[in-house]
Amino acid sequence: METKRIGIMGGTFDPIHYGHLVTAEAARGQFQLDQVLFLPSGTPPHKDPTQVTDTKHRYTMAVLATLTNPHFEVSRVDIDRTGTTYTIDTLRILQDLHGTAVRLFFITGADAILEIMGWKDSQELLGMAEFIAATRPGFQLEDQRGTIHHWFSSQNKRLHILQVPAMAISSTDIRRRVRKGESIRYLVPETVDYYIRKNRLYAPDVQNSAVHHE
Ligand code: NAP
Repeated sequence: METKRIGIMGGTFDPIHYGHLVTAEAARGQFQLDQVLFLPSGTPPHKDPTQVTDTKHRYTMAVLATLTNPHFEVSRVDIDRTGTTYTIDTLRILQDLHGTAVRLFFITGADAILEIMGWKDSQELLGMAEFIAATRPGFQLEDQRGTIHHWFSSQNKRLHILQVPAMAISSTDIRRRVRKGESIRYLVPETVDYYIRKNRLYAPDVQNSAVHHE
């Protein structure tokens, strides 16, 4: 049986933007992935859940954004679990779902991957998937944490660095723009832009949300 290669895009996606989509498509090409699963996070160990937009909205925006790419899908694996969502449990579930004929590639921001040694069961994690750290060009992962690069290299080169110019787009900046009534056109798919306005996400001030469409 041929081994299926699945990319797993883990992130908060608050909101999803073109940086995430371009990263997923670049990873798909570079690592010959058959499919990329977007996994909006549930309750990650390191975040205050009250500071993150409701999963219902983050999930719907991910579905809207990925609709037109036949290789992209959104998974509820992290958001349907109760309690803290550890990536090791996510990978175990996906491995069980797909059986042994699968090779998993976990893709997320380099900032998150830099912390991986502190994640639950980190040694086992590395055995279950390869890790793709998305960075903007010029970000030197090795310079930031020499040890992590050394650690990953000693684990059969299971860390890959993917430089993506579009990662200059950030969810934090998009939320700030919406709050200030600035345009987010061309930073997120149009459907996501409309969804944000319609549900008044990130912009409690109604007057702000009117500015964009004038
Ligand atoms: P995050 O806050 O959403 O993002 C951290 C940084 O990475 C931000 O700069 C973000 O940019 C970027 N980023 C996020 N997802 C990305 C993606 N898929 N591709 C490219 N860049 C991305 O991330 P997080 O909540 O820390 O966690 C990321 C993943 O790691 C999640 O799946 C989470 O469950 C997992 N995690 C697991 C553990 C554990 O098991 N102990 C601990 C921490 C994190 P934007 O803000 O623009 O998205």
